Amino acid sequence: MKYETVIGLEVHVQIKTKTKIFCSCPTEFGTRPNENTCPICLGMPGVLPVLNKRFLESSMRACLATHCTIEPMNRFARKNYFYPDLPKGYQISQFELPLGTNGYININVDGTKKRIGLTRIHMEEDAGKLIHGENLGSPGKSYVDFNRTGVPLCEVVSEPDLRSSEEARAYLIELKSILEYTGVSDCNMEEGSLRCDANVSIRPVGQKEFGTRTELKNLNSFKFIQKAIEYEVDRQTRLLDQGDTVKQETRLYDSDRGETFSMRSKEEAHDYRYFPDPDLVPIMIGEAWVDELRKTIPELPEQKRERFIKSYGIPEYDTGVLTSSEPLADYF
Ligand code: ADP
Ligand code: MG
Ligand code: ZN
Repeated sequence: MKYETVIGLEVHVQIKTKTKIFCSCPTEFGTRPNENTCPICLGMPGVLPVLNKRFLESSMRACLATHCTIEPMNRFARKNYFYPDLPKGYQISQFELPLGTNGYININVDGTKKRIGLTRIHMEEDAGKLIHGENLGSPGKSYVDFNRTGVPLCEVVSEPDLRSSEEARAYLIELKSILEYTGVSDCNMEEGSLRCDANVSIRPVGQKEFGTRTELKNLNSFKFIQKAIEYEVDRQTRLLDQGDTVKQETRLYDSDRGETFSMRSKEEAHDYRYFPDPDLVPIMIGEAWVDELRKTIPELPEQKRERFIKSYGIPEYDTGVLTSSEPLADYF
């Protein structure tokens, strides 16, 4: 049977700020474990978070650069779950009222331009990091580093509009480029400032309804994202061809083996019990503020390409990355 691939991406982007989302600890990468912490980002009782204005403005600029509507009222919510890297027992995120909605990003694959919808962009704090003792010569022990706890993130959620791993790659390259041009993130994948979850399903060609999706978590390089999606499409195709069904589950990609494996099924999925965070006031955003920030959005990659084509008459300009073997002009 012939199948069509359907992909939706959830991308976590670290927003460039000097200090964390709700406290004045530095966001600096590479300091000693737990050096960048205070009672607020350690989740001590009795402390109160205060939102970093620079982060909010950068997040608004990310929304504007991706054609999202900035919601005049949005608010933070608590996402409740237990994990040792989450000292408060909840993550401050946004849920029913996110910052940005209904945006889009244009991509170009094999000369065909395509618009990929953005469902939402919301703001949230990062969690800490567990370091397992096996790597430190003390097997059986785990250590936790809270330096990343409270580092500001935006989560960019796409519509299920992508139809191949190449389109997913083109989307990520374009999103990364837009965020870099706008200056809101350095999108450094090695340092974890851009991380991607891919939702993948297939359906028989011609079928309207989407198939059951699996979610591939924490893909941190373009190569792995593409490979993980391709493996997953093959796996789902094999299942359906055998008359089996795809189980809705979260899977991880093992880059050494080039395979995805099950992490948890839908039945084990979290019930996060979201509710509005009573420690943080709703965020009201007036038109004037949005207009002010709109003026700070620079020429974006797509506009630059179009201007380049107009001025130099180059008929086609691929959105892909230039490889070192291609001749580079220093026009820009
Ligand atoms: P969750 O909160 O469980 O992650 P969401 O509704 O927020 O669920 O969807 C997450 C992502 O999954 C979005 O990017 C969306 O486009 C994508 N998605 C939803 N349904 C499908 C599907 N059938 N196939 C592929 N991607 C999908
Ligand atoms: Mg998800
Ligand atoms: Zn702190």
